[in-house]
This record gives sequence, C-alpha cells and structure tokens, in this order.
Amino acid sequence: MGRTSSARLHRIGIGTASLLLLIIVGEQLQNRHDRTHRGASATASSETLVTKSLPTVFEPGVAYSLPVSADDTAVFDLAFDKGSRYRMIVSSLGKGEQSYAVNLATSLLEPTTGPPCNVPQWRQELSTPAATDTLFVNTDVTPHVPLQAATVAKKRTFYIHFAEGELIDRRRYAEVYASLVKTSPRLQIYWDQQLPFNERFQQLVDEIASQFENDVMPEISRQLAPVYDTDGDGRFTILLTPWLDRLEGGKTSLRGMVRGTDFRDDVSVPFGHHCDMLYLNPLASSAVPWRDILLHEFTHAVCNSWRMRKSSTGRPLPVEDDWIQEGMAHTLEPLGANQQHRISTFLAAPHGYPLVIADYYRAGMWRNDGCRGATSLFHRWITGRYGNEFMRGMLMAPSHGIANIEAVCEYHFDELFRLWTIDLMSSATTRSWNVDQSRQFLELHGTSASFWELHAESESQTRIHISGEPGSQLQVTLIRL
Ligand SMILES: [Zn+2]
Repeated sequence: MGRTSSARLHRIGIGTASLLLLIIVGEQLQNRHDRTHRGASATASSETLVTKSLPTVFEPGVAYSLPVSADDTAVFDLAFDKGSRYRMIVSSLGKGEQSYAVNLATSLLEPTTGPPCNVPQWRQELSTPAATDTLFVNTDVTPHVPLQAATVAKKRTFYIHFAEGELIDRRRYAEVYASLVKTSPRLQIYWDQQLPFNERFQQLVDEIASQFENDVMPEISRQLAPVYDTDGDGRFTILLTPWLDRLEGGKTSLRGMVRGTDFRDDVSVPFGHHCDMLYLNPLASSAVPWRDILLHEFTHAVCNSWRMRKSSTGRPLPVEDDWIQEGMAHTLEPLGANQQHRISTFLAAPHGYPLVIADYYRAGMWRNDGCRGATSLFHRWITGRYGNEFMRGMLMAPSHGIANIEAVCEYHFDELFRLWTIDLMSSATTRSWNVDQSRQFLELHGTSASFWELHAESESQTRIHISGEPGSQLQVTLIRL
C-alpha cells in the first residue's frame, strides 16, 4: 500500500557500492536454484584465486564477501606480516535443524606479485529508513469497545492441553472451570477454580490488570498494533491457571502462554476458544517481572489475532514461524531477566544456535536459550534498522518465515544475515586461529555463524581453504583489522 520502487530504494538506503554488491549476491541467490550455473561461475572466480596465486589486498575495516563455490568451498590468499590480523565470519545458510562439518586449513604460498584479486566487497550501507510510508495499513482494526459488565460471563470453561502427545488428541485436554475475578474497560480475568482464590491472589490479579490496562496494552498498541477483537466481546481475556505449572504431564512449567488456535474462528473446543486471550501461571516463581511476561505474551496475542483472523481470502494467513514469533515478542519486552541469560548463551557459542527454526518443538529446540537469544538479537537488530514498521509489516505479510522477511524488508535474507553477523562480531565469542599451525574443525548449525581472528607468527602468504559439508551453504566474510 503506497509503496513505490523509489520508496523501496530509499527504505534500504542503497549506495552505489551496495547496489553493485546487491547484484552480485542476487546472482548467487538465483544460482542456488541452478547449481550448475552457480558452480560454473563460482569455479571461474575461485580459479582466478587459485591458479594465479595472487596476493589479495584487503583494505582495513572493509567487510569482504568471499566467493564460495557450489561445493561449499572457499579458497583465498591472505598476506600476513607482523601484527596483521583478520576477522573472519564463517556462516551457514543451510537448514537450521541440522549442523554441518566445516574444515578450515591453510597452505603456504611462494610470495608473488600481481594485481589484487577482484573480491566483492561489502559496505554496510543498509541504513535506517526515514518513515515516509507505512508497511502496515491499519484499515480493519476492530477496537475494543467497552461493553456493559452484565454481558461478561461469570463462569466459563476453558481447555488446556496438559499431557504429552499430539495437539489433535482431545483426550489430552483438561477442562478448566473458571470464575470471573476482574473486569476493567478492556480486560477480563478468569481464575481456574481448582486453585482457591485468596487475598494474595487478589493482589496479583489487581496488579496484572493495572499493568495490562495502563501500560502493556497501550505500549504494544503504539509500537505494534492494537489487538484484533477475535470474539467481538470488547475485552481481552486472561486466564490464570495452575495447569501452566505442570504441562506435558508435569515436565514443563511456563509463566505465560498464547495458543494460536484460540484466535481462529474455524477451530472449536477443546482445540481453540475463538477468543483473544492469553494464559498466565499464578504459581510462577521467577525473577522475571510480570510486566515483562505480559509484554511478551501480549505481543504473541496481537500477532496471532491479526494473522489468524479470517482475511479477505476467507482464510487466515499462514502461521508464522516460531523463530519470528519469539523474536518479535522478545523485541517488545525489556532486555531484562527473561532475555539476558539467553543472549549470553547464544553469544558464548553462536555456531551452535540456529536462527531460523520454523517449529522449535519438532526441531527439539523448544525453549532453547541460545536459539531464543539468537532470534531476539536478530529481531532487535532488524527493528533497529527498519523501525517498528518492520514488525507491523510482518503482521500482515502473506507467507511465513524468510519469505515474509524478504517481502517486508525488500532485501535478500542472505544479505541481511551477513550484515547482522558483521554487527554481531563485536559481541560474539571469537576463536583465535594461528594460521601457521593447526587446522580447525567446526560443527556449524544452519543459519548460524562462527567468528574467527586469524594471525600468523611470521611474514607469509597463506592460502586459506574452507570447506563445508554438502548443504551447508557457506557464507564467508573477511575484514582486515
Ligand atoms: Zn514467546
């Protein structure tokens, strides 16, 4: 809506150097679908590197995108003298659910002279756009219109998937008989009757209602969008239930939860409540403030309320990937206790935590701290570049996962990933590699990156060989310090 091609260029702030690179990388992307062609062009460029043994001159402080051949091999020459150091990022754009073996080796070259190799260089010219147009046109918002208290049901039955096993098995759902314990202009709170409601819980409910009405709801409406009123009852619903303390047969305790199927009007109980709602655990003992939990869960609710409603096609939009849902929810909560340990876990070993995981549960990475740290940092980074328009755009984007990110940003994901890893370089754990000595070996997850600092003890011309397992889709970036 209102997006023009000139706005597109303005949006990503492409300078001439980046435009050149955009073309080069765009060709590589296209070639991924045509391995033969990509192989031919990549072989030509690595032959330039290998057979002519040219010393490569890398300008300090510039990030270079190094050619990677179709068989996931990068070969390039580096000149070392006393004190010269290079930073190298070796990433995989392979499947996040897999890890790939990567070998790093060297060989010494005879000193030669000649012109520098023609290695594409990457200048970071992706800049924050001026907010001249809007990605999210809020034409169909049903606001919460306060209803009369009399219309709010005093008692309701909800259903919780409490046991291990398939979500489609109705025997694994427990009935929750709940009482209305609080109403405010835009909120109604229900309490699971299995837990006696006492004065302490009354205080908790009052605190949650006050934070939600006065802080969380206006904050998320401002930064993202108002919640879509799925059931048209004028209020958002919160259910407090101790079931969240013992999900999956007692193995899992959650502080809060949102279930996407609740926001659909074509799913019935026990699988969905057709209600804009979230769930909280009244027994949660945690250092994480309720405000952080509410901001996180309410962001999930707002996203689902828009994506799961019946769109103009008569169907909901595709379910968004887990890594994007969690990344957006983390971005709109403070960088507090819910996030710090996840981010530190990721930065300590970034090669082990994939960014792109469509379904955390199936991938065996549900609530994986490092993966959550990765997606939190990525979404904070991309929101820092594009502003909140990025997240608003994602609410309505027509597909899911990488396709949605590319549609909203109008930028290839591979390139965004590279730029993100360049910005991560200053904070992620870096491995030191003395290229005179040993080979290195790495297990690299798809859509993760490893960070290296290369140095040599003596003056030399050294050829670096990096090879990844088939499917690793290596990406190599070099910066001379
Ligand atoms: Zn979440």
